[in-house]
Amino acid sequence: MDSQLLTLIDLQSFDTRLAALEAEAARLPKQIEAIQAALADAKKSLDAQRLKADTTRKELRTKEKDLDVVTAKRAKAEARLWEVKNNTEYSAVLSEIETIKQEKAHGEEEILGLMELQERLAVDIRDAEVRLKAREEQARQDETVVRTKLAAVETELTAVRAERDSRARELPRPLLVDYEKILKARSGVAVASVTASAVCGGCRVGIRPQAIQELKAAQAPMLCENCGRYLYWQEPA
Ligand SMILES: [Zn+2]
Repeated sequence: MDSQLLTLIDLQSFDTRLAALEAEAARLPKQIEAIQAALADAKKSLDAQRLKADTTRKELRTKEKDLDVVTAKRAKAEARLWEVKNNTEYSAVLSEIETIKQEKAHGEEEILGLMELQERLAVDIRDAEVRLKAREEQARQDETVVRTKLAAVETELTAVRAERDSRARELPRPLLVDYEKILKARSGVAVASVTASAVCGGCRVGIRPQAIQELKAAQAPMLCENCGRYLYWQEPA
């Protein structure tokens, strides 16, 4: 086979490998970002729970203070029962005490509800903290795996690029420029095989019998008349 054609075939295999490695090198950092984003989300939701617990604690303190005020009001009203001068005043104070009692009962109910909420939140937060810790550990491990993979891909990329460039230097400049132009225009495939089915391996369009004969002789690189890729004959295995 023509040595330029052999070089083109080789170059294509290097470039196919490089494209896969480059895609991997672009994908892996996104995977790391996704791991970190999921962890950040979990942290955010825990922070929101903590904030809610904090708000509940403050609200509870306020309600407790309010209840103290109501209790004091009740004691004062009860003391006034001893000072009233007639029945009308007496029943007015009694009715006032009744209202205060209701107010107190309502306040106590609210406090109970807040205390229950506080307990529930404390349990949820403890659970979330345990889960987050496990997730952080898992994320650290996952990230290490991905980073190791990425480093390996980058090392391989450097090595394959060097091999590819040294092979590319064997081609005359105009041929290399042409090859690279086709590679770019034809989604990374500039060299296609033709087998017994007699179609271009790149665009699947049939090759004329005369061209097949020329391909088999392989005296010089030939182009597909349809897609413009370099063609080479591949003997059936
Ligand atoms: Zn073609």
